[in-house]
Amino acid sequence: TIGELFEQTVSKYKNKEAIVDKTRGVRSTFEEWNIEVNQLAHAMLASGVRKGDRVSTLLFNCFELGSAYFAAAKIGAIINPINFRLKPDEISYILMDAAPKIVIYEKELEEQITKIHDRFPTILFWSIDETTSPYASSYQDIIKYSPTTNPNCEISENDTYAIMYTSGTTGRPKGVMHRHRDMIEQSLICINALQITSKDIGLVTAPMFHCAELHCSFLPRVHSGATNVILHHFDAQQVLETIENEKITMLFAAPTMWNMLLQEELGQYELSSLQVGLYGAAPMAPVLVKACKEKLGIELVQAYGMTEMGPAIAFLETDEQLSKAGSAGRACFNHEIRVVKPNEEGPSDPDDILPSGEIGEIIVKGPCMMIGYYNREEATEEAMYKGWYHSGDLGYFDEDGYLFVADRVDDMVISGGENVYPREVEDALYEHEGILDVAVLGEPDEFWGERVIAVIVKKDQQITGEQLDQFLKNSDKLAPFKRPRRYVFVNELPRNASGKIQKYLLRETMSHDKF
Ligand code: AMP
Ligand code: MG
Repeated sequence: TIGELFEQTVSKYKNKEAIVDKTRGVRSTFEEWNIEVNQLAHAMLASGVRKGDRVSTLLFNCFELGSAYFAAAKIGAIINPINFRLKPDEISYILMDAAPKIVIYEKELEEQITKIHDRFPTILFWSIDETTSPYASSYQDIIKYSPTTNPNCEISENDTYAIMYTSGTTGRPKGVMHRHRDMIEQSLICINALQITSKDIGLVTAPMFHCAELHCSFLPRVHSGATNVILHHFDAQQVLETIENEKITMLFAAPTMWNMLLQEELGQYELSSLQVGLYGAAPMAPVLVKACKEKLGIELVQAYGMTEMGPAIAFLETDEQLSKAGSAGRACFNHEIRVVKPNEEGPSDPDDILPSGEIGEIIVKGPCMMIGYYNREEATEEAMYKGWYHSGDLGYFDEDGYLFVADRVDDMVISGGENVYPREVEDALYEHEGILDVAVLGEPDEFWGERVIAVIVKKDQQITGEQLDQFLKNSDKLAPFKRPRRYVFVNELPRNASGKIQKYLLRETMSHDKF
């Protein structure tokens, strides 16, 4: 179980630095950290939390989120980290669905809780900061007098230990359930792919409520006896300073974060400790991959996956970054990936396998697959049709067996009967030096059905749509029907906390004629 994993690391690496969180003023060894984890576990038990009960967190990145994660695991409770960017009604929806016994939150997010707490009279609200809220208790007061010993609860590897809500760009968010054993499997996959050892010092800067950070970086590092240095949230300058000051050896960042790091004066920082950079969670343009390698001088590893699969299912390794730039890599050792013929009426048939080069739906099977969506039997059956997780991503295998993710099924544009995969257009546009960020989507067109438009954040204030169109024409990369018919310039693209462009928001803006 995850609790046993934690105990094993603690006994092996007792006096080694485990966790650093400067915002919270914490620098703890594994042994010291374990004391707090045990106290929190006992406090949960004393508050009536039993095996199978949910414990939710509404926290930015912090030491306490890590503690709650292992404390819940030790008593068989199910951890449910909630996205700190959600609005009160969205949080309320998740609390209604997950029905936790406790919500652990922080002062910066108290306003959200204050707006909804009275809808949940039976939930206990614990603030990690001092609080004067009549409905909340202080975490410090609660754990202070708790026993420091391991609670020793009877837990099986087959018990559920986490419910992670998906970002829910289509419909309401769904709670993805994983068992202890699924996550240990995922942790081993990431230790292997990133070659993590106890000597590593990892930076946590992407949101911990999302599986890409929590399960592919934070957990495997604890598993390996490595150190986790936690930043409250992503801030490019702070990331670079921390790499220098804490001698960080590895970090995960979403493509947009890597892009922001590259905009900084990199020469000002001593970054030589940094060995590996993990990217993923959203598509990254090949030019950006190359720029990271050149300007940061580090090895890169790409992970492709989805919350439902734990998340990582495929990696592009360090020596393949340039020869296969843009690829999602190959399936990790205990997973099988197929590209199958999409089915408009329902889930695609896992046996309708497409030959290499043809684009279809990416489906996957492996030991980290979710056991299902919480309270959502029908959606579970559809997503896991015939034992394969249906990702809703479109992609293809090249002749060498490398997977390329084309786009989400829902984001594909059909113009004059031709399929346009926005990612291909975005990657081509990223090659232009004047572009900082870009999203390509379809807008209704009377004649073509849909036409391609590009929404752009400029780096260079001079560029115009005509210039960009000429650039694409000259680059010989895109067939004419794929070239955007319209360029819109904005100051910022809407992205969710894990770095994905929220195209549904752009489409909404477009439908209100706001562009
Ligand atoms: P989530 O449910 O938040 O884990 O998001 C999963 C989705 O993110 C996948 O289905 C993909 O559409 C996208 N995604 C994740 N990793 C990558 C990657 N390395 N390259 C391209 N898209 C990715
Ligand atoms: Mg998803």
